Amino acid sequence: MLIHNVTIFTNDENNTVLHDQAAVIQGTRIAAVGKSADLQHQYPNSEQIDGAGRLLMPGFTNTHMHFYGMYARGMSLNATPHNFHEILIHLWWALDKVLDDEAVYYSALLPAISAVRHGVTSMIDHHASPNACAGSLDQIEQALSEIGVRGLLCYETSDRDGKAIRDAGLAENERYIRKCSKAKAQNPDHLFDGMMGLHASFTVDDETLEKAVAIANYLDRGCHIHMLEDYVDETLTQEKYGRSVVERLAHFGVLGKKSIAAHGIFLDDNGRKLLTDSDTIVVHQAQSNMNNAVGRADIFALLNSGVTVGLGTDGMSADLRREIMTGYLMHKHTASDNNLGWVEYEQMAMKNNPAIYQRLTGQKIGRIAVDYLADLILVDYFPPTPFTGDNFWGHFLFGLIDADVNTTIINGKVVMHDKMIAGIDEQAIAARSRVVAKRVWDSYHTG
Ligand SMILES: [Zn+2]
Repeated sequence: MLIHNVTIFTNDENNTVLHDQAAVIQGTRIAAVGKSADLQHQYPNSEQIDGAGRLLMPGFTNTHMHFYGMYARGMSLNATPHNFHEILIHLWWALDKVLDDEAVYYSALLPAISAVRHGVTSMIDHHASPNACAGSLDQIEQALSEIGVRGLLCYETSDRDGKAIRDAGLAENERYIRKCSKAKAQNPDHLFDGMMGLHASFTVDDETLEKAVAIANYLDRGCHIHMLEDYVDETLTQEKYGRSVVERLAHFGVLGKKSIAAHGIFLDDNGRKLLTDSDTIVVHQAQSNMNNAVGRADIFALLNSGVTVGLGTDGMSADLRREIMTGYLMHKHTASDNNLGWVEYEQMAMKNNPAIYQRLTGQKIGRIAVDYLADLILVDYFPPTPFTGDNFWGHFLFGLIDADVNTTIINGKVVMHDKMIAGIDEQAIAARSRVVAKRVWDSYHTG
């Protein structure tokens, strides 16, 4: 397939922008990038997409998501939560208990559609459905594969619902990682992979950490866990387990270069050092933190000490661009510093997020260059001012941030073209999802 008549933002180290270009996709990967006329001459028999002067760039990666959060949309709560712990008790830990297999499937399907519309081509999800745990990651995989979105999945193991459900969580992660390893042995470009999911230090017992890390190490994966999203994680961890959160995670081997710690709001110098020394990935999500009013992670101190920090949406939406803009403005506003965040947000959104996905799965995404996976988007962006690699980030924040995505290609497959996702009836899917939501909400309200 040849996509011609486009401006290309390659997202390489120099932010190279190329005009009047084309890209050739063979199978799942990018086979050539060059002048439109040259490649049309060289590949005369290829299927062609006329980009009509649009911008071709790599799709976005969302590095911390909860698909099942969709079923909280519009739901009335049984009680008004007054702090983060109460938000977990009255909303998330009550909602996740009433999800069934069909709810898990639809809660991934609709955000996957939204992701494609917003140019997000790969997602790292953290899932919970304690009474529909076995096979839940297959339900999510099924939904993502019907749309064609790339995903790195895990189940959030916790002791909060007892040992049997804890064991089911560990088993689901192990089963799914093995399934993906087998698929990737046949096809390294397989759309899915798994890692070991854990809820958060304050709901995971020592024995569970030991078991989870043993499985993860044996299967050569890392852990995906919430860390210091609220200070309650620290106080309850100290109270129950007699250590600080980061020291405890380090002690049990949860930290490491293949592990994700989401949030990290209440880190001290020692915690930052342990994360830096272990090369643990930290994922930041400003929208969620503002929504829960839990504070602001010092991403600048983390980045300065060499931690790879990425951006996620934490279930707020599938769209990464809204997270980028919100977080960028939040840090400036809160710190009263108009210069804050420009370089860091570009680094996290454009470079770190795909690098995190690559580190965890071995799949090369996030760049338009030969041999990279063809996860690409064509955006309706026709720059009204001179557009170069040097000023890309200015164009991004003040123009590209809400430009329509015309075409989304994932793993070499055209998932959406001219804003149409072939093979799905979105209205029918949403209608069925509302039936499922009614069942889920009724169960939530009757407890
Ligand atoms: Zn989260």
